[in-house]
Amino acid sequence: MIKVLANDGISQAGIDALTEKGFEVITEKIDQSDLISTINSDNYEVLLVRSATTVRKDLIDACPKLRIVGRGGVGMDNIDVEYARKKGINVINTPAASSSSVAELVFAHLLGMVRFLFDSNRQMPLTGDTEFKSLKQSYAKGRELAGKTLGIIGFGRIGQEVAKKAIGLGMNVMAHDRFLDEANITLEFFNGDKKSFTIETDSLENVLTKSDFVTLHVPKIGDKAVIGAEEIGMMKTGAGILNASRGGVIDETALMFALDKKKLAYAGLDVFDNEPSPSIHLCMHNAISLTPHIGAATLEAQDRIGTELAEQIITYFEQ
Ligand code: NAD
Repeated sequence: MIKVLANDGISQAGIDALTEKGFEVITEKIDQSDLISTINSDNYEVLLVRSATTVRKDLIDACPKLRIVGRGGVGMDNIDVEYARKKGINVINTPAASSSSVAELVFAHLLGMVRFLFDSNRQMPLTGDTEFKSLKQSYAKGRELAGKTLGIIGFGRIGQEVAKKAIGLGMNVMAHDRFLDEANITLEFFNGDKKSFTIETDSLENVLTKSDFVTLHVPKIGDKAVIGAEEIGMMKTGAGILNASRGGVIDETALMFALDKKKLAYAGLDVFDNEPSPSIHLCMHNAISLTPHIGAATLEAQDRIGTELAEQIITYFEQ
């Protein structure tokens, strides 16, 4: 029986799919310091991790029976991927499993910010019973999303999911991608109807100058922010910006300056520089809608991550 150690957990759907095919799945968390000895003594051939467990060269060298290392999710910073592959280990991940969850979170922020829900939810518990009328006045200038332009920077898996949801809400979509000229996206409706769109990407400058809201879905490459003071300067006054990609993709100091000067009306952030200790000034800013990096954290995404990993493991051992 092939043994699978899911050291950072795996969904029940993933466990069921594997056990049905005769795998033994253990979800007991082994401390990083005991991982090598446990993998060897208990004959694990598959190690599944999320972001907590690291798989470095020492582990790869010390565990020659390991056949698969799987990462539930996207980023593989915690795995020495190239080294593992060189040593004949199959390294897998589930890059598409959480795209829809992240895209929905973008709209949670976006719909919330145009009606000031993030601030209203802070103020109502404090003065909702005494200052109702003045709060009502404070949030009177909401905006609709329908008919507005959403600029999507990074038009990969998540960017394209965001486009589908924006179109569903009646928004215009513009996209910029450094490596992609166009993308075909297909909206699927409740009655089985489908509608496809081809969206051509545009220059960063055009997207920034013409969008009412800008959302970022790029990887973090190097230290330079994709959106800094210069790029914010190109945006419409009163626009909103969202980052659910990686901390550092927006220059946080430039963002706070732009919000304070009312160049930008609001921002929505799921990711931060210096996680898990983001700037307290950002966290307390009254024009920012905030979540603590929960883009992929839905039950549906966890289920898909588990079943996608299971499918890849089953296929590998069936070959
Ligand atoms: P992807 O690789 O499918 O898409 C990224 C796109 O960005 C690609 O099309 C690429 O060509 C483009 N790109 C790269 N650098 C660029 C640049 N400087 N300017 C413009 N375009 C650029 O990735 P994805 O699955 O869509 O993920 C996007 C981001 O979301 C990643 O940073 C990922 O780590 C992050 N993410 C966040 C969460 C969360 O919890 N908030 C969850 C999953 C993924």
